[in-house]
Amino acid sequence: MDKIKADGLLIISEEICEKVIGRSDAFKAVENVFGAMARGDAYNFPVIREAIGYADALYGFKSGFDKSGMTLGVKSGGYWPGNMEKGLTNHQSTIFLFDPDTGQLQALVGGNYLTAVRTAASSSVSIAHLARKDAKVLGMIGAGHQSTFQLRAAAEQRDFEKVIAWNPHPEMLPKLGAVAKELGLPFEAVEREQLGAEADVIITITSAFEPLLMRDWIKPGTHIACMGTDTKGKQEIDAALVANATVFTDEIAQSISIGEAQHAISDGLLSEDAITPIGAVINGTHKGRISPDEITLFDGTGVGLQDLAVASVAARLATEQGLAARVAL
Ligand code: NAD
Repeated sequence: MDKIKADGLLIISEEICEKVIGRSDAFKAVENVFGAMARGDAYNFPVIREAIGYADALYGFKSGFDKSGMTLGVKSGGYWPGNMEKGLTNHQSTIFLFDPDTGQLQALVGGNYLTAVRTAASSSVSIAHLARKDAKVLGMIGAGHQSTFQLRAAAEQRDFEKVIAWNPHPEMLPKLGAVAKELGLPFEAVEREQLGAEADVIITITSAFEPLLMRDWIKPGTHIACMGTDTKGKQEIDAALVANATVFTDEIAQSISIGEAQHAISDGLLSEDAITPIGAVINGTHKGRISPDEITLFDGTGVGLQDLAVASVAARLATEQGLAARVAL
């Protein structure tokens, strides 16, 4: 529980978030909130995402309430494709936390770094709970901004011996390779078929709108964390592969509408009741992986409660460490 004790409004910058929140804090916050969602103690409210008709920007809100963590708030922001030229990241977001007892604004928290770490924590939680314990080869599909965060967090979950990777833009792979090297892991750029044949755990984190990994390429026992598909129409995985796997997700409503499962559902290959919230595995009400040969698939769509959970921890830690700016309400 991270109820913020503060008089007035806390302001936690991006820089402070980076200083106070590490991977293990994000992992615990995300694992807890997935568990709370599966118990019915935490709810995400409907997501708003709109093209604003200016600067090609997409803008929206993700919000929710976690009764067990007493976290109420909203992440507001979106995607500004022209930002790169201005030296800014294209994704921009800010998290607002409110006091659930009074509705008063408690904290404004920079959301860019927190989005990256909470997304990495999500696939990492799925690996911790669903991947085979003897997983040795980590396969990465994607080499953009998020990929290095996913790699660092995943590497902590199993005794991986190497990282293999593929990206539609191969020139982006050396950056990911440098992170693998920093982690002491050999790195190899491979073709997708080889990646499927060798990897014990695969993370997909691209902006693809068509399948990049096909069912017949994947070996039994693999765990796949699908993290890139977070919008209607996006797709990273063959729908037949989704249908062939035991499917887990952060939130079923998002999985079937904007997540990787949307295509298998609309093709009639998978039914909604075959998808399990990962929180049920965390809470011990679902066994998770039941056989070493099973293909497990985590559809990580990204929910607002993840953002609120890490923002709440950031606000608490920044306050404890005397780093949060404070203004009177
Ligand atoms: P990025 O722009 O830095 O990288 C994009 C990646 O997708 C690169 O690997 C690039 O080579 C690849 N790519 C670009 N266009 C492509 C195409 N048409 N087909 C296939 N691949 C393509 O983005 P990022 O910040 O690394 O985010 C990657 C994806 O993850 C995005 O789709 C983003 O929306 C999604 N995302 C999901 C969550 C979540 O919680 N699930 C959170 C953050 C980002």
